[in-house]
Amino acid sequence: MVVVGAGVMGSATAWRLSRSGRSVILLERFEVGHDRGSSHGSARVFRFSYDEPEYVAMAMEALPLWRALEDASGEELLAVTGGFDLGSDERLKRHMEALDAWGAVWDLLPGREVAARFPSVRPPPDATLLFQPDAGVLAADRAVRAMVTVARALGTELHERTTVTELRPRDGHVEVVTRRETFAGDVAVVTAGSWAPPLLATAGLDLPVTPSRETVAYFESIGAHRFPVFVEWVDGRGPLYALPVPGGGLKTGWHHTGPATDPDRRGGPDSGVTARMAAWVDERFPGARPAPHHAETCMYTNTSDERFIIDRRGRVVVGSPCSGHGFKFAPLIGERLARLATA
Ligand SMILES: Cc1cc2nc3c(=O)[nH]c(=O)nc-3n(C[C@H](O)[C@H](O)[C@H](O)COP(=O)(O)OP(=O)(O)OC[C@H]3O[C@@H](n4cnc5c(N)ncnc54)[C@H](O)[C@@H]3O)c2cc1C
Repeated sequence: MVVVGAGVMGSATAWRLSRSGRSVILLERFEVGHDRGSSHGSARVFRFSYDEPEYVAMAMEALPLWRALEDASGEELLAVTGGFDLGSDERLKRHMEALDAWGAVWDLLPGREVAARFPSVRPPPDATLLFQPDAGVLAADRAVRAMVTVARALGTELHERTTVTELRPRDGHVEVVTRRETFAGDVAVVTAGSWAPPLLATAGLDLPVTPSRETVAYFESIGAHRFPVFVEWVDGRGPLYALPVPGGGLKTGWHHTGPATDPDRRGGPDSGVTARMAAWVDERFPGARPAPHHAETCMYTNTSDERFIIDRRGRVVVGSPCSGHGFKFAPLIGERLARLATA
């Protein structure tokens, strides 16, 4: 099996494939942990709370796989903090129904009680918030490294600084062409993030996704504050979200507000988005300094409805599960891609 791309999805796939005894070659055009794709940085939100039961089920299925990765790597990767959703009544109702569909627990709390329990947060006192206790923070960069380390210990062969330029499906196998050599595999799993469309086109496959460059900003904690995961649903725009960063402080983002772009074009953080997040932190998080100490960008690979593409076409398996919310599901998606590859 040849896996193209060692972001979180390719690394998860290599781990799950090698765990099932397959021989795996994992190819990465940069280095594991680089900051030009979608999987870098110290933190990602893990949450069950979605407005569709399917995602709740996937998050619940992913949780034991994250714990299995922790066991296999000896690293603590998921810190449970609990998470809040603040939004319209209709929005919260959809989340509660989706959580109920799978028996996930939740609670509704008035803003003033949330502020009493979490002095780091200041929701509108009369608002009602949805609390889901299983939410938490994934140590993103360490998680990717853990997957690669465990996969390599199980026999995965990793080639960094190796760009795949073409896929050539043949009778009974697929050739995966790089500038230096051509690898042959039963199947190629393409987890190339924002770079997937042109690569898949070499095999005659059309991937209907649009890459965008999104901005995130980091804020220092004032003292030893404990932050929960916090998602604020804004009508007509993507939600604002905040999560504690391992080691202290807060990371914030404004979902799906970045411009469409070519992933090979370098670009910096959007100062308008950073300013919006600073104003939000000032209003909502008394436990954090409202001036960001750092901002950076990260690529989303967007489908029109933010759903994931997990599919097999002949000798090529496509794993383009991003749209900015895929990380939490990565071990499960890796398992599903591995199953497709070996079917
Ligand atoms: C700002 C931001 C915040 C996010 N927050 C969350 C969150 O809180 N919770 C959550 O669940 N999800 C979140 N996500 C989404 C999540 O991070 C992504 O779904 C996930 O990282 C996608 O990983 P990937 O492996 O598909 O892509 P990538 O990480 O981009 O990996 C693709 C890899 O393929 C390599 N590659 C590409 N082309 C080739 C080639 N031709 N040859 C060899 N290698 C190649 C690339 O170099 C890259 O390393 C966020 C994403 C962003 C950008």
